[in-house]
Amino acid sequence: MNKYVKQERFHGIGQLGQKRLRESHVLIVGVGALGSMSAEMLARAGIGELTLVDGDFVEEHNLQRQLLYTELDAKTHRAKVKAATKRLQEVNSEVKVTGCFQSLHNENIQQLLQGVDVIIDGTDNFETRLLINDAAYKWGIPWVYGGLSGSYGLSLPFIPNQSGPCFRCLESFLTDDEDCDTHGVLGTTVQMVTAQQVTSTLKILTGDKAQPSMYKFDLWESDAGYIQVHSLKQPSCKTCSGERTYPTLRTSQMKRHIQWLCASSGVHIRPKEAQNLHLPRDRCSNHSWTYLPFSDVCMLRKANRQVMLFQDGRATIRGVATTNEAEMLYDEALAFLYEQV
Ligand SMILES: [Zn+2]
Repeated sequence: MNKYVKQERFHGIGQLGQKRLRESHVLIVGVGALGSMSAEMLARAGIGELTLVDGDFVEEHNLQRQLLYTELDAKTHRAKVKAATKRLQEVNSEVKVTGCFQSLHNENIQQLLQGVDVIIDGTDNFETRLLINDAAYKWGIPWVYGGLSGSYGLSLPFIPNQSGPCFRCLESFLTDDEDCDTHGVLGTTVQMVTAQQVTSTLKILTGDKAQPSMYKFDLWESDAGYIQVHSLKQPSCKTCSGERTYPTLRTSQMKRHIQWLCASSGVHIRPKEAQNLHLPRDRCSNHSWTYLPFSDVCMLRKANRQVMLFQDGRATIRGVATTNEAEMLYDEALAFLYEQV
């Protein structure tokens, strides 16, 4: 029996819809909670090609809601895209899955969008979403937003060639899930947002012409509904109205990009140019630093502070109170490493 028979019997998909799914390419930005669930659902639905972009590694506190990963992935600090790619190929070997172990930024986004039909938001911050939004409108690619905090969540597809508002227009109305460290998050909230995001994606890919509306819910409070957002379009929006300047696509002159992270309560540092660091293979230490290598990342510890360093120079820094402190610790960790070679 055909693998997709139940889906093909569904009136909204049919054999033609299934064929369109097989010919489609979806980019998933971030394979944490939302992105990993979307990836699995789309792989099972028979999407032709999936590209996953994520520069993070699996940690134990991810396992409560990030269904693609295991205790072994967390223990070995496996790159999320590598663990996800392996699992997705086991789920459906017909799908072409490409994992890009990097964070999304304005210098790699155009390349990553080549041949992509829909972008799914699996991020946890507004900064990356504004970048996705600018790129999506500039190059005319639909994208599907998802946000959550606690038991509350919402999702909304943005379709550049339609007349509705874009993400930048709605920014002040949408939830800022950067506070998810304070409110936590239920695994079931993730499932609910993902169900909406993946359904929107299937509708876009199969040519459904319905006007998108925002779905908003609170699982714990048993509250849910669709909201019409059409009237919220901003005539002065720099992404979708008037003079479109797509602000986030302008190249930054800063030597490093520094960002507070929600999910892991740390600071992410990315050098402007990707590095090719020499990372020692063996554990080593001096009076203040301890160095531990893993397959996709290495850990440098100094007292209760920690630098998770990638070969391309990116790092996640924990136990610091400010971005300045994070940058100083990062420089110190690199100096320690240079002494080891
Ligand atoms: Zn707009």
